[in-house]
Amino acid sequence: MQDHEPHAFENLGIPATSGERVVIVGGGFAGLKLARKLSRKKFQVVVLDRNNYHCFQPLLYQVSMGGLEPDSIAFPLRKWLRKKAAFFRMTNVEVIIPQENKLVTSSGTLSYDKLIIASGSKSNFFGNKGVEKNALTLKSIPGALDIRSWIFQQLEEAVYEKRKKDLLNIVVVGGGPTGVEIAGALADLKNHVLPKDYAELFFSGFNIIIVEGGDKVLGPMSDTASKYATKTLKKMGVEIKTGIQVKEYDGNEALLSNGETIQTQILIWSAGVIGNPIPGISDNALHKNLRYKIDHFNRITGYENIFAVGDVAAVTPDLGSPQPMLAPVAIQQANNLVRNLNLSTSKSWKKFKYFNKGVLATIGRNKAVADFGPLHFTGFFAWIIWVFVHLMTLVGFRNKVIVFINWLVSYLTFDSAIRLIVRPLKKASVKDTVDAI
Ligand SMILES: Cc1cc2nc3c(=O)[nH]c(=O)nc-3n(C[C@H](O)[C@H](O)[C@H](O)COP(=O)(O)OP(=O)(O)OC[C@H]3O[C@@H](n4cnc5c(N)ncnc54)[C@H](O)[C@@H]3O)c2cc1C
Repeated sequence: MQDHEPHAFENLGIPATSGERVVIVGGGFAGLKLARKLSRKKFQVVVLDRNNYHCFQPLLYQVSMGGLEPDSIAFPLRKWLRKKAAFFRMTNVEVIIPQENKLVTSSGTLSYDKLIIASGSKSNFFGNKGVEKNALTLKSIPGALDIRSWIFQQLEEAVYEKRKKDLLNIVVVGGGPTGVEIAGALADLKNHVLPKDYAELFFSGFNIIIVEGGDKVLGPMSDTASKYATKTLKKMGVEIKTGIQVKEYDGNEALLSNGETIQTQILIWSAGVIGNPIPGISDNALHKNLRYKIDHFNRITGYENIFAVGDVAAVTPDLGSPQPMLAPVAIQQANNLVRNLNLSTSKSWKKFKYFNKGVLATIGRNKAVADFGPLHFTGFFAWIIWVFVHLMTLVGFRNKVIVFINWLVSYLTFDSAIRLIVRPLKKASVKDTVDAI
């Protein structure tokens, strides 16, 4: 990433401070809140992230389907911090040395008085190396752009290849909210957009298949939401296979747990996430899903001055079940931690309590589901709520305006804006086999 020598800069060029230095690893939902709200009178605040932008992950699937530009769901971290007298360094945090209160990064070392780890999550491949190597994932902007490129590369190839012209399978692994959103967006593309662009292709052979290990899609949501999603996706032409897992994938063929095989060069993995911890913290402080064990105050088990917030944090088992890996959890944890750290004494620290404001998922145009405690909404009303909530939570005024205009135009024209292959994806394993045919 950097031109300079690794580990070159002592304290990353950040001046010494007479107060306490708080280092925040990650500029995601949790990191942003913390960085803005921590007291500057009390702390010198330093934010470290491997990217120089915040990524609004809930809309990544729209980037992957050519519906939104990547810039409209990203926000520059320096712009976020510039009026807040916080330091930012774009660097990869490699190791924590807790006994020295020090971090090792790809750009140098940095000492801290308090450390807050908000490094999010990563895809869980359940140890399946073939899938990890060959599947596409939706966890970052480059990943979303890879999916976009790859889908349109396959369509461009299909125009030449008889085999693909007749049959193009896209497999979405995992029927959670992300899998449902991807499959629904693909179905909208297939039904409203692609036949106009690719008049030579036969879209009857363009199959979108969800493979879900559990017994229904949208498993964590209500029965109403799950049934509505199933019915709606089927109506849109999506095939749903439940109670089945993908066992192997070599880039060309997916082997399912029921012995069935599916020929596909597009397999999108959205079957689960695990924590993204930074090496150096004791293994005893890690759950089996790689999230840090924390107490009620987000302090990592066994450490007085190291905290974890957001996806990478899970309460210790004896304090209850882990919070879901959702943006509101990350934001609420960050708010509570800020409140506590800004106090002059830890005696009046408040325990974190999650307030579940509801869960939403969209399936496509005018179709969404919303669970608010005992209340469940489906269809157009839920979709309007989904649109409103996502516009409101998106970071940056410019982004809100651009996304709103994009959605409005797509809605009125039944079109999606950005079906571009700007940076073609070269998948070695797939390409080798395809070239060999
Ligand atoms: C496709 C998708 C759709 C989603 N949809 C929804 C939704 O509809 N509603 C919802 O509530 N939640 C949704 N989520 C989950 C939500 O995005 C996460 O819960 C939320 O982002 C967690 O916030 P965080 O601050 O813990 O981590 P993140 O937002 O993931 O931020 C982590 C940050 O840490 C940085 N980082 C990581 N490791 C390092 C390192 N070693 N060095 C330096 N920097 C590092 C990363 O670059 C990143 O900026 C979705 C997630 C995905 C992937």
